[in-house]
Amino acid sequence: MEDPANNELREIRINPIVPTESVLVSTARGLRPRKDEKPFETSSESRVEKCPFCKGNEDKTPPTISSWPNEDEWSIRIVENLFPVLSDRQISKNLSFGLQHVIDGYGRHEVVIDHDNHSIHVDQMSQDHLYALFKTYRDRMQILYSSDSRIKYVLVFKNFGPAAGASIAHTHSQIVAMPVVPENVATELQHSFAHYEKYNQNIFSHLVDEALTFEATIYDRESGEVRRKIDVGQYVIEKTKRFIAIKPFASRFEWEVQIYPLFSQADYLECSDEDLEDFAGLLKRTMLRLNKVIGGAQYNYFLHSIPHGDEFKKHAASYQWHLEICPRTSIPTGFELGSGLFVSTVSPEDAAKELREVKID
Ligand SMILES: [Zn+2]
Ligand SMILES: [Zn+2]
Repeated sequence: MEDPANNELREIRINPIVPTESVLVSTARGLRPRKDEKPFETSSESRVEKCPFCKGNEDKTPPTISSWPNEDEWSIRIVENLFPVLSDRQISKNLSFGLQHVIDGYGRHEVVIDHDNHSIHVDQMSQDHLYALFKTYRDRMQILYSSDSRIKYVLVFKNFGPAAGASIAHTHSQIVAMPVVPENVATELQHSFAHYEKYNQNIFSHLVDEALTFEATIYDRESGEVRRKIDVGQYVIEKTKRFIAIKPFASRFEWEVQIYPLFSQADYLECSDEDLEDFAGLLKRTMLRLNKVIGGAQYNYFLHSIPHGDEFKKHAASYQWHLEICPRTSIPTGFELGSGLFVSTVSPEDAAKELREVKID
C-alpha cells in the first residue's frame, strides 16, 4: 500500500481577501463526492420553438428594456425577470441578505438574454459578441445606479447548467440592483481596506503579483545549495497586457478561476471599451480551457465591483473589480455546509497547470 502522506496534500488555506471562505485542500480521494455526471444535456439547436428567450417569441417575455445591436435584429436582449427576487413594485419587509440585513425589498431584477442562439456556450461566442455582452452589463449597471440613489449594489451573474441553478436552458445572465451590499463583497471591501491601511498596498494587486512571480530559487545561506524552487507564475491561466486570469491559492471550487485587471480600477463602470475588448478575448480563452478540462462545464460567474454611495469612496484605492468563475463539479457535503469550510480535492497548483497546458488556437 502506498503511503498516502507522500503525495497527498492536506492543508487549510485562508483566503486573504475573504477569510470566512477558507478552504481545506485535501487531495485524498473520497473526501468529497465528485459529481460523475455526463455533461448535462443541452440541445444543439440554435432555436427552440417553445423557448421564451428564442427569437420570434419576444411576446412570451416582459417587454424589451434594451437590445443589441437593435431591437429587430437583436443578439443580446434585456427584459425584466418574471420572478424577481427584488422589485420596486412589491415591497417585502422580511427579505434578508445574510444575517445583518433586513431590508425593504427595493430593487430591480432583470434578465440578459446573452445570445440569440439558444444553445451556444460562452466559449463558443465570438470575442466581439462577448465584448458587446460585457459592455451591455456595464452600461446597464450605469443606468441602474443612476436611476435611484438608494441602489448600493448592482450584481451581474450567470448560472450555466442545472447544477449551477439555471432554470431556463437558453443562455442568459441576470442583473440584480439592490439597496444593500452583498455580504461577500462587504467582506472583500473590509479586508482589502484593512490590508491597505496596514501595508499601503492593494491586496488584489499583491495577489496578482504573487501569482505572476516567476521561478524564484531559494538558496541555503551557508552552503549555497538550492533549497527550494518556487514555480513560475504557477497560478496564472491566461494573461494579456491588461488582464490576468488566475487560479486563487485558496480556491473554494476545484476549477475556480478569477479575472483581474492588471491596472488599478475599483469600479467596473470605469472600464473602457478598449479594455473590455481585451477582457473579452481573455474570457473566451479561459472558458475554452475550462471546457476542455472539465467538459460541459456548468458554472456560475459573477462580477464584483466597488459599491456605489459616498461611504464606499474610501475603498477606491484598496479594491479591484473582478470576475469570479465557479464551475460546479461537486456537491457540497454536510461537512462543508456544517463547517463553512470548503473542500478542494484538486490542488490549485495542479488545476492551474492543467488549465494552462490545454492547447487552444
Ligand atoms: Zn431559446
Ligand atoms: Zn469577489
